[in-house]
Amino acid sequence: MLPKFSYARPDTLRAALALLDERNARIHGGGTDLLGCLRDRVFAADTVVSLGAIAELRGVAATADGGLRLGAMTPIVEIADSGLVAERYGALADAARVVASPQLRNQGTIAGNLCQKPRCWYYRGDFHCLRKGGELCYAYDGENRFHCIFGGDMCYIVHPSDTAPALAALGAVCRVTGPSATRSVPVAALHVPPSVDPHRETVLETDEVITDIILPAPPAGLRSSYRKVRARASWDFALAGVALALVFDGDVVTSARVFLSGAAPIPWRAAGVEAAVTGRKLDPEIIAAAAGASVAGAEPLAGNNYKIELFKGLVAEQLEAMAQS
Ligand SMILES: Cc1cc2nc3c(=O)[nH]c(=O)nc-3n(C[C@H](O)[C@H](O)[C@H](O)COP(=O)(O)OP(=O)(O)OC[C@H]3O[C@@H](n4cnc5c(N)ncnc54)[C@H](O)[C@@H]3O)c2cc1C
Ligand code: SF4
Repeated sequence: MLPKFSYARPDTLRAALALLDERNARIHGGGTDLLGCLRDRVFAADTVVSLGAIAELRGVAATADGGLRLGAMTPIVEIADSGLVAERYGALADAARVVASPQLRNQGTIAGNLCQKPRCWYYRGDFHCLRKGGELCYAYDGENRFHCIFGGDMCYIVHPSDTAPALAALGAVCRVTGPSATRSVPVAALHVPPSVDPHRETVLETDEVITDIILPAPPAGLRSSYRKVRARASWDFALAGVALALVFDGDVVTSARVFLSGAAPIPWRAAGVEAAVTGRKLDPEIIAAAAGASVAGAEPLAGNNYKIELFKGLVAEQLEAMAQS
């Protein structure tokens, strides 16, 4: 059962920011993650502030410089179905189409997808684990087959979002408004690794709202894609996923941004893959080197060594597909 809280649905951003200034207020986008967390007592809220009535926070629109603006409250299904997104930013279209289930894509918003809480079963369950303010990570010596192989440090979650690695690979930037200022936060710098702070997932303060996500104009020669492998084909979080944004001049990759999902507590930049393909043609030798580089330095836990071969195979298949596209 949901605990008691006050609920507000202001119709301006200014009014929402004033409400968020109150003690222990939480933002409600589509509520698909927030309400589950409140119901399961993962955290509590005195006030829940819905952004659903603020019309300016919704929509997909081209920007004057050839980029794209996604309103923070845009339902994921609108991004999955957008012709503009599919035409310019294949990785984002691919990612939006594989988020959760049709019902959740209808209700869930793009900003909520970036800011959702981890899915670790101890965190979502009755365990007062380290991320919830306790002493211990139960996953480290416990059930960790869905946990991270990179970036674990006290906490070993994987970041659950499919759209975050795609947006990070495409160089997207969040516009964030707080009580006194507006700032820009690249999606690639939005999430906080546990080595910096195991108690928070993003750099946002609780009274800051993502209002828009801006994608830069796609450079000539950009090819991008996202694919995840999941345990259940119908809907599920990524066991392993890869977002590629490669710029080609003819057959040669001139620049690359590559982010992994299902790998680390944050969307994980695969710098080794980027280095392996930049300045090269995607021939079998380079693809094999890039696949190996995707798992270099990985530190699998007792239950998730299988992810090593999974990432290598996934990265190789996606690069082969891109070379042929
Ligand atoms: C069964 C299930 C399966 C799922 N499978 C997947 C999956 O395969 N892939 C995937 O990527 N996701 C998956 N999800 C997550 C789902 O996509 C998210 O629940 C959804 O995207 C969150 O969007 P929302 O608008 O409902 O967020 P909310 O629940 O409203 O909010 C989530 C968090 O974001 C914060 N927030 C919301 N909007 C803003 C804003 N504008 N500015 C700052 N903070 C904000 C909230 O305060 C809250 O902490 C799954 C969820 C469920 C329940
Ligand atoms: S992985 Fe993180 S969220 Fe899960 S039990 Fe460990 S500390 Fe908690």
